[in-house]
Amino acid sequence: MFDDLIYLILGVLILTTLYVVVRTIIFARRHHRVESIEGMPVDAATVAEHLAASVRCQTVPLDDAGTPDPEAFRQLHQMLAETYPLVHQRLKREIIGGYSLLYTWQGSRADLEPVMVMAHQDVVSADPDGWTHPPFEGKIVDGFIWGRGTLDIKNQLIGIMEAAEALLRQGYRPERTILFGLGHDEETGGVNGCRVMGQVLKERGVHLAGIVDEGGGISAGLAAGVRGAVALIGVSEKGYLTVEFTVQGQAGHSSTPPPQTAIGILARALARLEAHPMPTHLRRLRPMYHGIGIAAPLYIQVPFANVWLFGPLLKRWLQRNPEMNASMRTTTALTIVRGGVEDNTIPPEASAIVNFRLLPGDSIADVLWHAKQVIDDDRVHFKPVEGKFNEALPISPHKGPAYESLSKVIRQVFDNPPVAPFIMLGGTDCQHFVPVCDHIYRFTALMMDESFRGLEHGIDERIPINGMANMVTFYSQLMQVWGTKQMA
Ligand SMILES: [Zn+2]
Repeated sequence: MFDDLIYLILGVLILTTLYVVVRTIIFARRHHRVESIEGMPVDAATVAEHLAASVRCQTVPLDDAGTPDPEAFRQLHQMLAETYPLVHQRLKREIIGGYSLLYTWQGSRADLEPVMVMAHQDVVSADPDGWTHPPFEGKIVDGFIWGRGTLDIKNQLIGIMEAAEALLRQGYRPERTILFGLGHDEETGGVNGCRVMGQVLKERGVHLAGIVDEGGGISAGLAAGVRGAVALIGVSEKGYLTVEFTVQGQAGHSSTPPPQTAIGILARALARLEAHPMPTHLRRLRPMYHGIGIAAPLYIQVPFANVWLFGPLLKRWLQRNPEMNASMRTTTALTIVRGGVEDNTIPPEASAIVNFRLLPGDSIADVLWHAKQVIDDDRVHFKPVEGKFNEALPISPHKGPAYESLSKVIRQVFDNPPVAPFIMLGGTDCQHFVPVCDHIYRFTALMMDESFRGLEHGIDERIPINGMANMVTFYSQLMQVWGTKQMA
């Protein structure tokens, strides 16, 4: 009897282990090496000069609303026209919303859906204090091009132009029409640039087979537990929701306070919101670890392959990493609190601002409902802040010709890193093309290490000259692949 029980337990253990092993084998993708490509010859020094020239055009918005500086854009447009004569002879150039640029490289097959590569022309401001080389002088020193926009994202703008000019020089003509969508107000939401461009394409009845805009890069440390460099392609963007919470209370003197003040009621509500975030969804992270495949250590592959068994453990481990936590749930951030102004006066009102970032799958209505349930107090009123909310974007497939060929080009140009899909935590201009494209990918063709940390939007923004040259190779290869009927 006792023996039977032992055998039964042993049997169950062996079967479970076998099941776990088999599932792991199925989950852990191997990567077939692709041949690295030579690519077209790139004169890195000249490309560096061109990027430096674009940095000198100070396309910084004049105010928080994103008002463009007409003179800066005039300079940039002139610089592009002079530096890339073939692009400006052979491609149609349209100006959208005053400063955004839409180039059309007409393909030989009008029946094929066009593709689009994107970058934005605007950059964030830079106080020259603390910079090794001034942010808008476009210095080339110590193997780097220095200045605002060299990482975000004039590197990509110049990469696209440079690749197209070189391909035109070789007499290349795509089968599939290639568009360049170059916004002018991405840093302030793209409402006057790419949003209009998206509407223009929609009105023309254009539907795109694929888009690549700025986004993930190639780096170590992007996925918790994975040591080596991985290339991450953004397949969606989180949504945005700012909510104002208000409580009206009884004003009065602090010598005779009521049992509960407006501040007390609001504080309880905020504490509850923070203590009860929206639930986690492991399945949003699973495609990333599946894509990384055998480059992830076994102790990660096994639980991801067997969420049925290790799900709770896995969640607990991933939640400790802020990026991973934000990648699998709608986050809640308390950002502003307003209450009284006098130490001896109870204010009639207290209010707070909470910023939620929505995971694809959670809607604005879901979050508002969740907040109401969690707070469970009719004295706390809340409403979304005008102009400060948008739903999470649909998830583009990590299968199909557009994704697979993009992934292949990355592996060809950057020596076979594992390529995986992920959900971008921030927003980019390509959000405005959701109505005209189902295959929107966010990827910046740049290999980055620790030394890049904090440079984007920060002090001493700079890019290595060879990194810039690789970006040109990447775009020329991508345009040749995406320019074909098969996109392969
Ligand atoms: Zn950017």
